[in-house]
Amino acid sequence: MKYRYEQLEQLDKQYVWHPFTQMKSYIEEKPLIIEKGKGSYLYDVEGKKYLDGYASLWVNVHGHSDPELNEVLHEQIEKISHSTLLGSANVPSILLAKKLVEIWGGNLSKVFYSDTGAAAVEIALKMAYQYWQNIDPVRYKDKNKFISLKEAYHGDTIGAVSVGGMDLFHRIFRPLLFERIEVPSPYVYRMDEYGDEKEIVNYCLTKLEETLEQHHSEVAGMIVEPLVQGAAGIIVHPKGFLKGIEKLCRKYNILLICDEVAVGFGRTGTLFACEQEDVQPDIVCLAKGITGGYLPLAATLTTEEIYSAFLGDVHENKTFFHGHTYTGNQLSCSVALKNIELIEKRNLVSDVQRKAHALADKLQKLYELPIVGDIRQKGLMIGIEIVKDKKTKEIFDRSEQIEHKIILEARKRGLIIRPLGPVITFIPVLAMTDDELKTAVDIIFDSIAEMVSIKQF
Ligand code: PMP
Repeated sequence: MKYRYEQLEQLDKQYVWHPFTQMKSYIEEKPLIIEKGKGSYLYDVEGKKYLDGYASLWVNVHGHSDPELNEVLHEQIEKISHSTLLGSANVPSILLAKKLVEIWGGNLSKVFYSDTGAAAVEIALKMAYQYWQNIDPVRYKDKNKFISLKEAYHGDTIGAVSVGGMDLFHRIFRPLLFERIEVPSPYVYRMDEYGDEKEIVNYCLTKLEETLEQHHSEVAGMIVEPLVQGAAGIIVHPKGFLKGIEKLCRKYNILLICDEVAVGFGRTGTLFACEQEDVQPDIVCLAKGITGGYLPLAATLTTEEIYSAFLGDVHENKTFFHGHTYTGNQLSCSVALKNIELIEKRNLVSDVQRKAHALADKLQKLYELPIVGDIRQKGLMIGIEIVKDKKTKEIFDRSEQIEHKIILEARKRGLIIRPLGPVITFIPVLAMTDDELKTAVDIIFDSIAEMVSIKQF
């Protein structure tokens, strides 16, 4: 039986609790109910098509329903969908691990699988903590804290929330969390008083060094989103910040964890964001784009040195006791492997660079609008900060929901984008064509202009 839109709407509102959503508001609006996707487009149950300017939560690489990715899944499903990595191995997870180590192309040599970005982060944190305990539990008994950035976001499980710095999401859970030490991050648009980009980076790194001088013996590691803090509103870090963090982590003997969940797999114009600053973290978290947006999968990569610290006789209790039921799932791993092969075959990364470059010019036009305060871009990750007043940079009262109204205008015009606080985020399918990208920017312009004219700003 095919359900009509109204029936699905009613059932959705009756049964589904949506993530990150105030359901009281949600049930007052018409939900977008997606039925299929092709290339850069999503189609709702009534057949209306939308450009996927959100890459289905920042995951989609080659477009929806890619024939080659579909084929590999069909082939795999005929063989097996899932068997466990506890006590046995499987072909796709072996080949994918080899591939991930090869494409990382640096110091990381071991792959620990999981299924979501948050799990990849949990694993990184537990691994980092246990590493110090395994090598010298007496000397490193106090290394039980983590440093992270102001406005950090690393996922929604308790460990990932512990290292989070976004009050709106994380404050309520503080009593449940382990201790985190916060250091400033270079949010250039809102740090005028600290000087230019270089001075802001110096300020942030000086604060980090002061923190490390005081606390390094209690710190297991620092976790950072390399180059771009996505959920915080596409805060793009100026050049040199990540490299500076790496140097300080080395100087004070703490582990560096790079959370490439959002930025990995070509999103910022290189396969991995760390490449742009020639940074070699001790642990890297990967998810989102790893399967091209097809299936849940994540991986935590680490060095031979960290891996070796977990080797020992059974009675020594050095084992890493962590694992999820679907870890190393064959469908996810096989589609991930194919996704990476296609990224290479289709020269996707250099294509992203080229398109991002062309897009930068088009985006400048948005500054003509009186409520566009800042446009931030790294590769195909774009944030447009909406302000009430360009001079004071004051944002609109949250109750006005201006940004939400803008994205609804965009939806009417056939583009799916999302707000993050006062920032409109445009994170397109990586394979989106130049023409489609242009259309999307035109729709963003028209949607903000419509809001300006309705509200008479
Ligand atoms: N880390 C970063 C940097 C992220 O952006 C996200 C998700 N947006 C996560 C971790 C969590 O990933 P997941 O939603 O797959 O758990």
